[in-house]
Amino acid sequence: MGYTLLKNVNLLNGKKDMKVRKTSILIKDNIIDKIGDIEEAKDYKVVDLDGKYVIPGLINLHVHLPGSGKSAAPTSEGLKKLVNFIAKHKCLYPIGIALGATGAKQELLSGVTTLRSVGGVFKFDSMLRDQINSGKKIGPRIYSSDYAIATKDGHMAGTVSHEANNNEEAIAMVEDLAKSGADWIKIMITGGVLDAKVKGEPGILKMQPDMVKAVCDKAHELGFKVAAHVESYEGAKVAVENGVDTIEHGVKYDEALIKLMKEHNQNTVTTVSPALPICVDKSFDDFARYNSFVVFYNIVDGAKELIKNGMDIGLGNDTGCPYTTHYNFWRELEYVTKYVGVKPEQALYFATAYNAKILGTDDKIGTIEEGKFADMVVVDGNPLESFRTIQNPYVVIKDGVFYNQKIKKYKGVDEFLESINDIDLEAEFKKL
Ligand SMILES: [Zn+2]
Repeated sequence: MGYTLLKNVNLLNGKKDMKVRKTSILIKDNIIDKIGDIEEAKDYKVVDLDGKYVIPGLINLHVHLPGSGKSAAPTSEGLKKLVNFIAKHKCLYPIGIALGATGAKQELLSGVTTLRSVGGVFKFDSMLRDQINSGKKIGPRIYSSDYAIATKDGHMAGTVSHEANNNEEAIAMVEDLAKSGADWIKIMITGGVLDAKVKGEPGILKMQPDMVKAVCDKAHELGFKVAAHVESYEGAKVAVENGVDTIEHGVKYDEALIKLMKEHNQNTVTTVSPALPICVDKSFDDFARYNSFVVFYNIVDGAKELIKNGMDIGLGNDTGCPYTTHYNFWRELEYVTKYVGVKPEQALYFATAYNAKILGTDDKIGTIEEGKFADMVVVDGNPLESFRTIQNPYVVIKDGVFYNQKIKKYKGVDEFLESINDIDLEAEFKKL
């Protein structure tokens, strides 16, 4: 691939104290070779960016690749049967892999150069990862959990999670996933908004502490980290006390839990994007909307509490949920700035350098520094003034390769999301 020199760059490097720096970046093959005043040389391909902004490739830590975000979460019995059928027939695997391929491509073309999938159909996410790595398909670097582990009738059981009836079955699933090439283990500790049975209880505990511990112990023994779907305090307590590495979504933490999380080096991956639209979408019944508000405030208040206590948070947007498409991760940064109240540079740091740290890959990705992979997003305006600048990147660079194809977007979804920007959430919540 040789040398590519990016000239006239406004660089935001992804570090916690990042400031705009006018500079040049030299890429050698897939690695950032040099940053600074760089003389042009004969064998350099020179790209004059004319003051455009360059940020690290975004890292989306909470993705479900098979869902598009266009419609309601896939929970129907028909879909469960279809998923099982595909997984049982090797000749249908290309269909299974294709389920996530469109989403992966959209993620990349909208600036996400790395993602962690946390619940997919069967083992198709890791198969897709391998096809991307071998150049057969285009997409981000994928860290895949493949199917998640749930209890009987647990969250998303039968589609993106498999049911374990006892600890032995749960442990066998960890071994199965490890053997077939997963990168992470995902468990469903509590229920969620769309499977709640009681108003005000969207995150009821489903997986008992002994099963959580059994899964975490086995996963850690085999060298894997564990992410857990958690939408209630009780669930968070079980997660924190039994070895979970990342709590997905988040809850209102108290001092005791935060102390334990710090001691055990545990993180929360905040996901505002899926909770917000259901709060205000009147096509959902009041029951679902009420529970979505509970989850929304849990996530937002929990994130505030962690930050107040000096912790950083991971970011993901739970793509595949209604209204959460694979091309709008930038909205999560906007929401965290708006609702959690962090500065834009902090949100960008979470979505790049800190997310890389959670993945354990911060020596290779997450910031624009010499020696790291050339993963970056070039945008026209300053993202710290508006994350909307990331909506249509000028070019996305992953592993030194340039991508600038346009994405087909879903007009109805985008219009709805724009329409909810100015809604008075507290007033809406009170009406329910
Ligand atoms: Zn999820």
